[in-house]
Amino acid sequence: MITVRDLDVHYGDLQVLWDVSLDVRDDDSVVVIVGPNGAGKTTLLKTLSGVLTPTDGEIRLFDTPTSTLSASDIVRRGFVHVPEKRNLFGDLSVYENLRMGSYTQRDDFEATRQEVVEMFPVLEERRDQKASTLSGGEQQMLAIGRGLMAKPKVLALDEPSGALAPQLAERVFQKIDTISDDVTVILVEQHVDQALGLADRAYLLENGRIATEGTGRELLESEHVRESYLSG
Ligand code: ATP
Repeated sequence: MITVRDLDVHYGDLQVLWDVSLDVRDDDSVVVIVGPNGAGKTTLLKTLSGVLTPTDGEIRLFDTPTSTLSASDIVRRGFVHVPEKRNLFGDLSVYENLRMGSYTQRDDFEATRQEVVEMFPVLEERRDQKASTLSGGEQQMLAIGRGLMAKPKVLALDEPSGALAPQLAERVFQKIDTISDDVTVILVEQHVDQALGLADRAYLLENGRIATEGTGRELLESEHVRESYLSG
């Protein structure tokens, strides 16, 4: 689905990613990217979604080099990125935010919305409430729900459990597990143990480089991961 080869990304003169290569395969349900603050995880997702342009290397999305695609082409081809800051339209209602997510699939908006509210019933209960007045957990559900409205083949989630209380974070992980039955999920997370528990394939990004890769289980059992990220 996605191959990334030898990717370098800079902000101006500052290089943030070095030689990053990774694969998301057709039969992967969840691919996890973990790593400490500032490692370059968000930068990697922004580059995959066409928001940032790499200085070197190649990304192929369903066999097409993304250098030939605009960010909206990338969405239309089925790669949807739910950013860490959620980017909801705070003054718009839950319903209107879902509508904004469906711009690639206008014709079957209501049918898709029904699937999304079945997954997240709170989005039906709060249908007419302004997004800015939802709780943090509800806003996260809305951000993911809005991403699903575009009917992605790959859904990239940047720290979906961020800033949520542990119980709510656990619910988000359960939802991601369910979503991954139908959609391939790329999950960037700092909750390393829970994320790796869901992962078919996982990458540890450190200082802008892939430090370790393997199955979720292999990373969970790796001495380096356990010592650095799974204390306790
Ligand atoms: P976190 O887990 O804290 O969100 P991250 O792994 O997602 O971190 P990035 O946000 O990708 O890391 O940041 C990687 C590096 O790039 C950091 O050193 C950050 O300061 C720098 N950086 C990010 N955005 C910019 C920008 N717009 N301009 C300059 N430097 C940036």
